[in-house]
Amino acid sequence: MTTFSDLALAAPIVEALAAKGYTEPTPIQIQAIPHALAGRDLLGIAQTGTGKTAAFAAPILDRLGKKPGHPPRKSTRVLVLAPTRELAGQIATSFRAYGQFLRLTVATVFGGVPINRHIRQMERGTDVLVATPGRLIDLIDRRAMTLDHVEVLVLDEADQMLDLGFIHALRRIVPLLPRRRQTLFFSATMPAAIAELAGSYLTDPARVAVTPAATTVDRIEQTAVFVDQGQKPALLALTLREPSIDRALVFTRTKHGADRVVRQLGTAGIEAAAIHGNKSQPQRERALAAFRSGHCRVLVATDIAARGVDVPGVSHVINYEIPNVPEQYVHRIGRTARAGADGVALSFVAGDERPFLRDIEKLTRQTIRMAELPEGFAAPSAPAAAEAPARTKRHRPSRGPKPGAGQSPRPASAPRRRRSGGHG
Ligand code: AMP
Repeated sequence: MTTFSDLALAAPIVEALAAKGYTEPTPIQIQAIPHALAGRDLLGIAQTGTGKTAAFAAPILDRLGKKPGHPPRKSTRVLVLAPTRELAGQIATSFRAYGQFLRLTVATVFGGVPINRHIRQMERGTDVLVATPGRLIDLIDRRAMTLDHVEVLVLDEADQMLDLGFIHALRRIVPLLPRRRQTLFFSATMPAAIAELAGSYLTDPARVAVTPAATTVDRIEQTAVFVDQGQKPALLALTLREPSIDRALVFTRTKHGADRVVRQLGTAGIEAAAIHGNKSQPQRERALAAFRSGHCRVLVATDIAARGVDVPGVSHVINYEIPNVPEQYVHRIGRTARAGADGVALSFVAGDERPFLRDIEKLTRQTIRMAELPEGFAAPSAPAAAEAPARTKRHRPSRGPKPGAGQSPRPASAPRRRRSGGHG
């Protein structure tokens, strides 16, 4: 068994990791830490839940600890760029935890809070700054800070940064950094645009990857159920009444959808909170705190807001709406089964979402088990393609619904009994 000491991390960091209860490094940590400690650039393919934050934070802290000194005024020694404020907050929390036995300062800057606070905070400078790109540029434009003293740049969740339109911000930020620096680049997926970006920011990087889609997905019990869109509220309420659900993260595609689900659950007597881009920072923090503490068992989120939500003990992820980008599914269900725990993912698939389900199965190379609707629910109207092939053939995806598709969208193999974990 490899230990953190075997990876040659300094004692105060090993102690801090032990204090967090990390006994063994995760695969991405085993692969990444030695390269990062050696000062090499790194291209890491890993999604949230793999332990990638410690994979970059621990070697960075090691470096800072070995060369202590005053943080540079109006600048930072380490710049970590993250796509969302939640993720930025969590990365900063990790740096503080893993660096608790070192005398270092960790600051965050992100949108949604008054900029004056950040301006004042940057006066003194910091050892580690975790920032979202937009707010960082605001600060630079106001001459509240420079990037002249950055020794290490981390780009976390680069694919999400691109999805969120941060490419222009990145193109402005990176040229402001010293050329001589170490760059650690992490992305869950590696589409061409990301590979190109990595190519331009990294010098002779070591490449490390934990098998993208499969690793987390493997440990998660995944089930889907065909249901008409109009029946989803009732199905969700029924599902959430299952006592086996300790903490459920429910995903919708839109912010309005998330609010609507919270209202509908409220009507059904189930308390839930929403987290999405239209919520203020204090609202998001309150919702997350309630979810984390267990006061609120159900958190309804959009994909973007859920990025970086790291709540241990999420027993169920429910895809109330199926993402049309299959990678999002992997990100979503990765919120359960974090760091070795098992989890359950349920997907509510309306007629027009069936092609998305097939895209997901293609990406993850897994067949998602189909469950039956509970008693009392009308069988979903099969997608037009399955019922009236002549009319809609051209919309029909390569294959019909899963095995057993005849008139019924339910596969013959779907177990008929009710299972304990909701509908699957
Ligand atoms: P991350 O992928 O960085 O978001 O980490 C996912 C989760 O794994 C977080 O809750 C971490 O606290 C946890 N974690 C990271 N490294 C380890 C480790 N070596 N052992 C146990 N848990 C870990």
